[in-house]
Amino acid sequence: MSNTKDTGANEGKNQEHSNKEKLKPTEEEDYGYYFYPDRDTRSKVDEDKSFLSKKWEKFMRSGYSGDSGDQLKCESNVIWCKENDSQVKLMLAALKSKGCEINLGRHISCEPCRERCNGGYDPNSNQIVVCQNNTRKKDVCCSVLAHELTHAYDNCRAKVDFTDIEHVACTEIRASNFTHCSIGTSMMNGEASPWNYKEAHQLCVKNKALHSVLLVRNVSMDEAAAVVDKVFDKCYADLEPVGRIPRKYTRDAYLSFVEGRTHGYFDKDS
Ligand SMILES: [Zn+2]
Repeated sequence: MSNTKDTGANEGKNQEHSNKEKLKPTEEEDYGYYFYPDRDTRSKVDEDKSFLSKKWEKFMRSGYSGDSGDQLKCESNVIWCKENDSQVKLMLAALKSKGCEINLGRHISCEPCRERCNGGYDPNSNQIVVCQNNTRKKDVCCSVLAHELTHAYDNCRAKVDFTDIEHVACTEIRASNFTHCSIGTSMMNGEASPWNYKEAHQLCVKNKALHSVLLVRNVSMDEAAAVVDKVFDKCYADLEPVGRIPRKYTRDAYLSFVEGRTHGYFDKDS
């Protein structure tokens, strides 16, 4: 998985299949599936058990029963983001233009997650997970969606090999660049001042990407940092399809959305 913690059509099908074969959680490497009890095959309950005992086991595993109003709230937030959030709209249109149209029912799933995980992208099923117990606010939900849609876009466009840690680091750098590291966030993290914004922004993206890689791969901090450093310049400079680093509380996301029309991301009638 590719997590967010604060975490296709024909072109993607072969990649989906090959990832599925390789991305099986093992004792040594769980690929981040730990955070998604419903997807962690190592903890699947016996199909023969009664409904109530399965429900109880699920509760014990995740600390959350997962079937309250949270799922409905999450699904309505997802629909709101699809219709109102410029960055989510742009990513959906860009995916469609690459032949990987996102169908909300098929590709986006609201699920309970462990700890403070907000979302993830599961290349095995080509699905985005939105953590319904941690993303109750609309803006958080939209940010998670935009982040995970970047992974889906990269997988569609570039056939990401999620077993290759360099590929994982690259897509995490791009997703953090587009979503989490606004000037406001960098300042709150103590990474930015009005004089060092550029360096601080890069540091924020590096830190977020490092954190995400550590969540999904069983490697040391030093190993993960070396990989993030190795691919950083190339992946940080790759702004497709957003075209700019969107700053929070500005019109940047809207401008990218408008420019998306000139890049052919939208149908004539949308
Ligand atoms: Zn991610």
